[in-house]
This record gives sequence, C-alpha cells and structure tokens, in this order.
Amino acid sequence: MTELAPYAVTEGNSRGRKIAEDAPHGRSEFQRDRDRIIHSGAFRRLEYKTQVFVNHEGDLFRTRLTHSIEVAQIARSIARRLRLNEDLAEAISLAHDLGHTPFGHAGQDALNACMKDYGGFEHNLQSLRVVDVLEERYAAFDGLNLTFETREGILKHCSPCNAAQLGELGERFLKNRRPSLEAQIANLADEIAYNNHDVDDGLRSGLITLDQFDTVPLVATHLQEVRCAHPDLPERRVVHETVRRMINTLVTDLIQQSERNIAGQQPATLEEVRSAPAMIAFSPELNERQRALKSFLHAHLYRHYRVMRMGVKAQRIISDLFGIFMEDSRLLPPQFQPPAGQAEGERARAVSDYIAGMTDRYAIREHRRIFAVEEVPASF
Ligand code: MG
Repeated sequence: MTELAPYAVTEGNSRGRKIAEDAPHGRSEFQRDRDRIIHSGAFRRLEYKTQVFVNHEGDLFRTRLTHSIEVAQIARSIARRLRLNEDLAEAISLAHDLGHTPFGHAGQDALNACMKDYGGFEHNLQSLRVVDVLEERYAAFDGLNLTFETREGILKHCSPCNAAQLGELGERFLKNRRPSLEAQIANLADEIAYNNHDVDDGLRSGLITLDQFDTVPLVATHLQEVRCAHPDLPERRVVHETVRRMINTLVTDLIQQSERNIAGQQPATLEEVRSAPAMIAFSPELNERQRALKSFLHAHLYRHYRVMRMGVKAQRIISDLFGIFMEDSRLLPPQFQPPAGQAEGERARAVSDYIAGMTDRYAIREHRRIFAVEEVPASF
C-alpha cells in the first residue's frame, strides 16, 4: 500500500472521539466510523429518500442511498490518487446526507420554514445531529461517537451563529480555516455525483432530452465524441457513455488541479492544510463548465413543472404534519412524545427530528393516516 501523504489525516494526528473508546482490532478508527454509519438506522432510510424524483416514481432513479454510495466511490478514487485517507473520505461521503428530510430540497425548505421561530432546520447540521445525538444503538453513548475528522467532514457549511454553539467543530467557520483534504474531497465528490446522475435521471424521466444539452459544453463535447465514435449506438447507451466520460473528465481534472494546488502550497502537516486556502478544486475551465451544467439543471429539471408539483405536495405534507404535531403532541408515536411541560422550542425540535427522519413514503402514509377522511387500508 502506498504511504499516506504527510498532510493526510491519520490515527496519529486525529483528534479522536468525544468519548474515549478502546482502539478497534483489525480495522482503523476511520473504518470503524464507516462501519458504524453503514449499520445506522438513518443510513438504511436513505434508500427511501430522494432528491429530485420521489421514490414511487420509478425503481431506476437515484435515491439518497445510491447517491451516497456513488459519492463514496468517487471520493475514494480521488483520495487514493492523492495519497490521502481513503477510509475517512468514504466515511464522510456515506454520512453526508444522513440528515436529509424526505422529498429532497423541497422537504428541507418546508421544514426550515416550519422551524423558523425555533432556530430553523438545516440538513447539514441535522446530519451531524443524527451521528452525534439521534442514533440510539450503543449502551455507552448517544449517537455513533464518530471521530472528530468524520464529524468535521459532515459539517460542510455552517452559519457563524450555529458555529458558535458547536465548540471545537464550529471553530473553523469563525476563524476562516479549512477542513481536512479528505473532507474537501467528499464535498466535491458530492457535486460530481449529483450533477452527473441528475443528467442521467433527468433524461431517463423524459423531463429533459439530449438535444437540449447543445448549449451545455460539459455534456455537448462528450456527446459529440460518443456519437462520432459510435453512430449506431442506441440512445440509452449514448447517455451512459456520455455520463461515464463526464465523470471521468471531472475526476481527472479535480485530481490534476488539486495536485497543482498542493504542490503550490506545500503543506507539511494536517494543521497546515487547515490554515491554507482550499486545495481540492477543479480547474477554472472545468469549474465554469460545471456551473453551466448546474444552471441548466436548475432551469430545465429542478424547475420543471412536474418536479415543482411534487415539491408543492411535499411542502404541504411536511407543513401539515408539523402543524398537527405541534398542536397536539399526543398524536406522535409514544417514543417521540416529548415529556410533559417541555418548552415549545424543544417540542418543535423533537417534531422536526421525527419528520426529518421520515422516508418519502412514510411521510406520505403518515399524512394519509392523520388527514385522510376515507378509510385507510389496515396495511398502512
Ligand atoms: Mg449529497
């Protein structure tokens, strides 16, 4: 195995876990983090949570689970090439979306609006809350008691106000410092994964078509190459071949630009990584191309009227559920009921945790169970 770069995160320079534990046998601390994440309930629920397409719309669309696995694959490839800690990049990638609400961004916006008088809702902070507090699996502690470096990577962004309440973990947002290179990789691997799979899923759904991409250079150049080299290839394979090439181009560019940045900054230690500017980056040209693709997807896919309709439904479901549980917390399942006399803000946070943990279909069923006037089948 190649030796890690001197500025990689290792067990030697790790800030460790909040609650001290015996060292793991036969695996590293970061592999242990990854394993805990995979065995968590929140991780399994990612299978039925979606970003753009709701789960029942089709079996082939990405879910947050397959998205997270794709992010982990991309992050590991990049980390290995840069001689960074692959296991840490994997753990961060697998955990990065644990706090997402049902129904993707529409769900997050709706829950944030419901929570506006109680500190708001932010999926990134919620991912941290899942691994720090909400998972109940261990006898000795709440949450998963992950290493500082995995938690640091999960917290991608954070307002100064929230950062001030997070102690050591929030410090970098107040002192303008960076997280580890492994965390920076997971962050950009996320972008590579969703831009590309949204192109694929968007085309599969028929909401967008290949011809529309003529004005999007990142797609158009690869599409042209594929069509020239394979003029008779069926359309679906043209899409796969194009997306495959796009991912390859982005990953290769990211590795090369990051190598140049690292060579320029010459960090000697992990601490120097944290005080230097971000080093994991795309080249300016590819950055521009990624941005053009993102704005295309915003205009033509995320704001497509059919996606917007689902968004409106999602908003209604989430705000109805939040409203009714706040009005009468006796309607919550017993294990979620707040103790009598709890302050309104704490009650709101408990309701928000319950709703954020729901899968798309669970939220739809829960809404039906509470609000439907017609008879609901017993299996619900
Ligand atoms: Mg993501």
